[in-house]
Amino acid sequence: MANWRDEVNRLLLILSAALVFGLLINQVTLCLLIALAIYTGLNLLQLRRLTQWVSKDSQRGDNQPPESAGIWGNIFDSIYRLQKQERLASDYLKNILDKAQESSAALEMAVVMINKHGTLDWWNRASEELLGIRYPNDRNQAVTNLIRDPKFADYFHREKYDQTLRIEAPGVSGRTLEFQITLFGEHEKLMLVRDVTQLHRLESMRRDFVGNVSHELGTPITVIKGYLETILDHIDDLEPRWHKPMEQMLSQSQRMENIVHDLLVLTSIETRATPRTQDTIDLNELMAEIASNTQEIIAEKQHTLNIQCDLNIKIIGQRGELYSALSNLVINAAKYTPAGGLIELRGNIVDKYLLIEVEDNGIGIDAQHIPRLTERFYRVDPSRSAETGGTGLGLAIVKHILARHDAELEIESTLGKGSLFKCWLPIDRVQID
Ligand code: ADP
Repeated sequence: MANWRDEVNRLLLILSAALVFGLLINQVTLCLLIALAIYTGLNLLQLRRLTQWVSKDSQRGDNQPPESAGIWGNIFDSIYRLQKQERLASDYLKNILDKAQESSAALEMAVVMINKHGTLDWWNRASEELLGIRYPNDRNQAVTNLIRDPKFADYFHREKYDQTLRIEAPGVSGRTLEFQITLFGEHEKLMLVRDVTQLHRLESMRRDFVGNVSHELGTPITVIKGYLETILDHIDDLEPRWHKPMEQMLSQSQRMENIVHDLLVLTSIETRATPRTQDTIDLNELMAEIASNTQEIIAEKQHTLNIQCDLNIKIIGQRGELYSALSNLVINAAKYTPAGGLIELRGNIVDKYLLIEVEDNGIGIDAQHIPRLTERFYRVDPSRSAETGGTGLGLAIVKHILARHDAELEIESTLGKGSLFKCWLPIDRVQID
């Protein structure tokens, strides 16, 4: 501001001097015009210096401003300061960008940025090795053209990215890749891909091992249990001190048989590919069959089992598997509900889902256990579970079966009040008459 006033004062001074001189020589207009012309000329000169200075590559090196005083000196200094700040900010950003590029290049995981049109924007070095993407040819290529597995296209378009996808690497047999996509910005996608071949092999070895061991254990357990049952059939021939141990041996061998059975079921669900031909299952019939086959345990504990399904619904899926999942839930409800309880099995359409619910008014589950219930061998109270012949594998089986039907399990429970197990099946697996 002070500079501006100085400049106005300077102009007034020049004009006053020109006026006085003009009066002296009796040429006021001429003197004023000459004074204004000199003033404008000097300013034009400064303007020229400014344009010459600014047009020099100010980003490179330290581009010192021309020496100048007054308002022009002020303008040069302000521009110089702004240039310096901008240079620092852009150096900082470039530094960050370089580091991000370097670190992503060092990653073994492929990182690919996909724009809202589904085409490739950017990728790191590992993407070239894992996915065979080439720079610059594949820029702006549709990702589904580069990874042609139909499972990938399905995963990409369905946008259910809370789950990962495992498929064989494009063009390399025997190599398994895991894809994970995250949405960001304006419907852009960040795709992370890692090589899980080793993990995949280990998992299948683990599955085979569990499957083989369970299979091998089946016969010895059946034999031991058979002999124990025969001995206990003639319990009166035994000395009384052997009664309790023998009964315990039988109940433990029964438990072992349950575990082996559940492990075999789990392994077979895990290893079996989803069959191409699916059954058309009448939901009412399925529920009635479950009610009839669980009648014994329901009656034993004097529970009431209510079935409610008003719609005529058919499910497209594996009948045996869905039967096993729902009956597991009903049996659990019966096991974990004190005698005289109420169990409900319901089927309803809610939004775009078929919702099958199993509800009981039993012991309930503390909230802290709920997220872990579907883990193998996870039991809230191992001693109670053992008493009821539980293996801790039931809910793992249910979750697996539902996943094979694109469905999800949701558990709600209040300790001491009861539990509600909800199975959400997508509507495209359902026919409603
Ligand atoms: P288990 O063979 O022990 O029943 P599951 O996998 O079927 O194994 O269930 C895991 C645990 O979840 C059980 O040990 C039990 O503590 C709990 N649970 C399952 N269903 C119910 C239910 N309806 N009410 C209360 N607790 C339940």
